[in-house]
Amino acid sequence: MEFVTVNGKRPGPIGQGTWYLGEDPASFGQERKALQEGIEQGMTLIDTAEMYGDGAAEELVGSVIQHYDRESLYLVSKVYPFNAGRKNIFNSCRNSLRRMRTDYLDLYLLHWRGGVPFAETVECMQELQRQGLIRAWGVSNLDTEDMQELLAVPGGGACAADQVLYHLGSRGVEYDLLPFLQQREIPMMAYCPLAQAGRLRRGLFANDTVQDISFAHGATPAQVLLAFLLTKPGVLPIPRTGRALHTVENADAAALRLTAEELAALDASFPPPTRKLPLDIQ
Ligand code: NAP
Repeated sequence: MEFVTVNGKRPGPIGQGTWYLGEDPASFGQERKALQEGIEQGMTLIDTAEMYGDGAAEELVGSVIQHYDRESLYLVSKVYPFNAGRKNIFNSCRNSLRRMRTDYLDLYLLHWRGGVPFAETVECMQELQRQGLIRAWGVSNLDTEDMQELLAVPGGGACAADQVLYHLGSRGVEYDLLPFLQQREIPMMAYCPLAQAGRLRRGLFANDTVQDISFAHGATPAQVLLAFLLTKPGVLPIPRTGRALHTVENADAAALRLTAEELAALDASFPPPTRKLPLDIQ
């Protein structure tokens, strides 16, 4: 399965997150370099949102992408649920485009489910596509039942991605959401793929199995976490870093191949779900 847009563009296997980036003028230059390095390394998908730093992350992205051929990039942004209806979505999208200094998004996501009916959001997304402001649309933080509901509304089947929290220490999506999306060839974008450097799951980076596998490959725990997600068809992790050294490390994770024994050891330490769990959110 490929993460494809209508014009057939394919981002690399790992994208770049931007939450908390662009907010501090003191680290703006360093963060810009980190994102640039990512693009150079083939991480051409950049994920942002109108929510992040009230548009500051989108502005950072805008300052980075000026140096690149727009068609070589895959830009994703998200609309707040309360802006995802006829009244506000067109302004929201135009404001995101203005901050990002571009004239279209490759993918526009509903950030999470709110009060606007899916049918209305889908109609608006279709209108944005007709206007050429977005190439494709998708959702975020939708679990299986919400996805079923979305796919049942007129035009809902065009949903191009579901972006959800997924990392080695939080595998609930493997129970039914991931198979559901895989069957329908809807890519899953994995957010917090590094569990926010282990903050969301204490001990993740220091776990013996993760450490042993890292050591065996001359890799880092962060790379093992990303390589684990890349073994799942249709999953595209979007780690965020403000440091170019980490960007290179994250990009290099795409070349790390975990063996069946290593995957079994990770399953033993971080068992896959055996029952439905509520969608983890951050
Ligand atoms: P994350 O990517 O799991 O972790 C980010 C943290 O990991 C940062 O503290 C970063 O610090 C560190 N890090 C990055 N690369 C590293 C490496 N190679 N070694 C060690 N530490 C490393 O968390 P996230 O930012 O919350 O999630 C990723 C992206 O997903 C977000 O930026 C955002 O675009 C998206 N997201 C979406 C939603 C949603 O509701 N749709 C929610 C959360 C996140 P340094 O800067 O020091 O490297």
